[in-house]
Amino acid sequence: MTTVEFADVSKHYGDVRAVDGVSLRVETGEFATILGPSGSGKTTMLSLIAGIAGPTSGAIKIGGRDVTNLKAADRNVGLVFQSYALFPHMTVADNVAFPLRVRRVAKLEIAARVKEALALVRLEDYGQRKPSQLSGGQQQRVALARAIVFKPDILLLDEPLAALDRKLREDVRAEIHSLQRRLGITTLMVTHDQDEALSLSDRIVVLDQGRVQQIDTPFTAYHQPRNRFVAGFLGLANFLEGELETQGSTAVIRLKSGDALACGPSRSTAGAVCGVLRPEDVGIVNGGGGGLVSGKVRESVFFGESVRYAVTLDSGFELIAHVPGSRSKLPEGAHVALEWEPDRVWLLPGEA
Ligand code: ADP
Ligand code: MG
Repeated sequence: MTTVEFADVSKHYGDVRAVDGVSLRVETGEFATILGPSGSGKTTMLSLIAGIAGPTSGAIKIGGRDVTNLKAADRNVGLVFQSYALFPHMTVADNVAFPLRVRRVAKLEIAARVKEALALVRLEDYGQRKPSQLSGGQQQRVALARAIVFKPDILLLDEPLAALDRKLREDVRAEIHSLQRRLGITTLMVTHDQDEALSLSDRIVVLDQGRVQQIDTPFTAYHQPRNRFVAGFLGLANFLEGELETQGSTAVIRLKSGDALACGPSRSTAGAVCGVLRPEDVGIVNGGGGGLVSGKVRESVFFGESVRYAVTLDSGFELIAHVPGSRSKLPEGAHVALEWEPDRVWLLPGEA
């Protein structure tokens, strides 16, 4: 059993609350991602698990055992950082062997384990190279092999893809995913990239200013965000702020601009709300009329596989629509109508 638990953990640096009253539990074999902007406390959370830093208050457990006061060397944790942090003067094989030598593993076993770990990251033929003779993606795979070679209870990854260019990032991302699944190792990965978090994790821990904003599956966090921060951090969102009005079986949000935008029947009664409507849930109809609201294309952005439109409604309010396919791109200034399924609008309490 290799769960990770935080019980009301805080880490303060002077006045800075790097981690502020965090409680969470990561299950055995789970891939959890800590997602948040720069400075939100992500690296500090990993340091607390690894034992590199101690908490100001609260308790940390690994596999049910209280490790709050245990030294880093006595925690069986594998770490991969953003920068590859390989020893440049050592060969790849020696880099991977390093944690085993520190643990005084027998020579013959070291050779076997290094071979096995390099095979796991598909670098079995690269053992005799120096790190400088490898691509960035290969170096990061060596770092991964070095982090798992001593069979850690927990794998911690701090922005492991951040230094890689886009194509390599996708390769290493796939590598991490398949490795984690094959080994079944409890993994916490830190990232500020929502696509990485959404595509890799069993659950996402969204962090802002040292505080947990939401812990959920990627699907739930994306479609049912607990607050505006989570909604906005996980992807583009139209925020429909206004008063909820129920008209028979239908409901609308009455915006300050005067627009009445359809939303699903809500659990809450009338009052201030903030509707979250994802741009990909907004359809666009050329020529105006027939849709729910009409407006004019202010801006269109081509993404290859899709086009994103910013549409200014007659009232002046702006909505974003993200439309798959890009064979026909509407010009700026085109009159369009927008439509969506009313129950796609996720309702949050209004801020006012
Ligand atoms: P992230 O990894 O999300 O970018 P960090 O965990 O590195 O964020 O930092 C969280 C906050 O704690 C930041 O405000 C940072 O400046 C502060 N901080 C982190 N480490 C230290 C330290 N050793 N001394 C002082 N402040 C620190
Ligand atoms: Mg960091």
